[in-house]
Amino acid sequence: MSAGELPWHGGCRCGQVRIKVNARPLVTMACHCTGCQRMTSSAFSLSIAIPSEGFEVTSGEPVIGGLHGATRHYFCPHCMSWMFTRPEGMDWFVNLRATLLDDARWYRPFIETWTCEKLPWASTSAIHSYNALPPLEDFEQLLADYARFFEEN
Ligand SMILES: [Zn+2]
Ligand SMILES: [Zn+2]
Repeated sequence: MSAGELPWHGGCRCGQVRIKVNARPLVTMACHCTGCQRMTSSAFSLSIAIPSEGFEVTSGEPVIGGLHGATRHYFCPHCMSWMFTRPEGMDWFVNLRATLLDDARWYRPFIETWTCEKLPWASTSAIHSYNALPPLEDFEQLLADYARFFEEN
């Protein structure tokens, strides 16, 4: 299933906050960490790393939730959906919750992280699995591999 033409649109559960994506994703991720388990009330989180310049909130005003720390988790102020994260010290990308897209059928996690904390039965179709996070020296290759994977899918 192809992702279709940019821009992509999406929003929270109630529709008060709407977002627009106008850049190709850098990578897609499932995270099994216990923090994501709690914030999603589920087994793992699904996200898409999007270059910051290609991400825009087009209506509504998301508020900070989650840990209220240096990494900023943004939520809809009305329905409280977790929408996106701006990770500490990495201003060049935004981590959007994948299933907020109006059409997320193309979505598939390319990597999965923190499998050391995963629920024993939880599995994804991610191509690369990491016990914790991918080592920094792997990033360049990973992003290049994902760009090719995105083209082909
Ligand atoms: Zn909402
Ligand atoms: Zn996580």
